[in-house]
Amino acid sequence: MIRGLSAVAGLRVVPDPRLADLTTLRIGGRPHALVECETADAVTAAVGALDAAGVPVLVLGGGSNLVVAGGHLDMVVVAVRNREIGYREADAGGAGGAGTGDAGGIIVRAGAGLTWDDLVADTVGRGYGGLECLSGIPGSVGATPVQNVGAYGVEVAQVLHRVRWYDRAAGTDEWVEPAALGLAYRTSVLKNTGTAVVLEVDFRLDAAGRSEPIRYAELAGRLGVAPGERADPAVVRRTVLELRRGKGMVLDDDDADTWSAGSFFTNPVVPEDRLPTVRSRVTERLGAEQAGQMPAFAAAGGVKLSAGWLIERAGFGKGHPSSSSPARLSTKHTLALTNRGSATADDVIALAREVRDGVFEAFGVELHPEPVWVGCSI
Ligand SMILES: Cc1cc2nc3c(=O)[nH]c(=O)nc-3n(C[C@H](O)[C@H](O)[C@H](O)COP(=O)(O)OP(=O)(O)OC[C@H]3O[C@@H](n4cnc5c(N)ncnc54)[C@H](O)[C@@H]3O)c2cc1C
Repeated sequence: MIRGLSAVAGLRVVPDPRLADLTTLRIGGRPHALVECETADAVTAAVGALDAAGVPVLVLGGGSNLVVAGGHLDMVVVAVRNREIGYREADAGGAGGAGTGDAGGIIVRAGAGLTWDDLVADTVGRGYGGLECLSGIPGSVGATPVQNVGAYGVEVAQVLHRVRWYDRAAGTDEWVEPAALGLAYRTSVLKNTGTAVVLEVDFRLDAAGRSEPIRYAELAGRLGVAPGERADPAVVRRTVLELRRGKGMVLDDDDADTWSAGSFFTNPVVPEDRLPTVRSRVTERLGAEQAGQMPAFAAAGGVKLSAGWLIERAGFGKGHPSSSSPARLSTKHTLALTNRGSATADDVIALAREVRDGVFEAFGVELHPEPVWVGCSI
């Protein structure tokens, strides 16, 4: 069946693959095969044929949000690698550029396999605003709607125009509006479901060269703008990349602090009436001053706490557990679990459990992992 696929144009079967070579956490065993697809049609042909044959499929972008088990993996990996990019003017009378409320704007259409940051760099290089705060996020364009990627006060939902996907149950290739994606904080109808494969994405940009409003205080401070103001997208991109590098959040082959899946846990959202209990647990453990300083922001469904703050205050400092551990917290950021080079999936999972359980024991707050788990669970 796999050999039959080799005849499809734009598709290449790679022998003897290892997920550890394809994921930023550098862990993961051996699937039956890796199928690299250079066109959207090759993706639909591969996934359609594998689904029809009942073969488990892992759709792969940049492998930057995956925790994959070791050993033999009963699946075929379909890597989405279509990388085309094109610009057009938005229909007059359409919704505004990058959420400005103005008519018009520019639409960029990108292949799902394009590296996300290459797209951001291209749009900013042309003087368009909208994607700059999302600079430096690893992975592919096609994965950005999957978990509604976000950083520095912006989520992809704010700039998403339309998505072309292959609906695996219906076997159809269609364009859908953002409303069909159920986008919310680090999730969508696609996350952990695999119901559709993203083939292309349209984003709406600001043709007048204004960034999205700068809402993140640390970024606004660096840029010297008031929160809510806009800035030059090129300056915002440069500043975001600097901030991210300082936290080990830009991939770097020479820096093991970046050999991760990014933030390992989402920021927990607790019901508002639970907040006093959490604060009193923090008071018991760390005193009233710390409890008063605990970050807490209004969010859909309650109050959003900072996972990184809770992890650190529960006793898991940067670099935990030690400099000789194969899997440890980043030395720059407690929210990233890193592989120092020789960690196995079991090492990463053991560390994730220790941190999750430790935070629960300390403060009664449950942390949920952000990455997608393949063949294993926390
Ligand atoms: C150093 C570092 C920093 C990070 N910073 C951030 C950040 O600031 N904000 C943030 O939100 N995330 C961040 N991440 C997480 C990650 O980069 C994003 O989630 C990214 O969008 C994942 O893209 P990917 O192509 O690597 O997806 P993969 O890891 O390959 O896949 C992730 C999931 O998406 C699915 N998927 C991939 N492509 C498609 C497709 N075309 N169609 C359907 N499903 C698909 C996969 O099947 C899998 O379930 C970071 C990760 C790292 C390593």
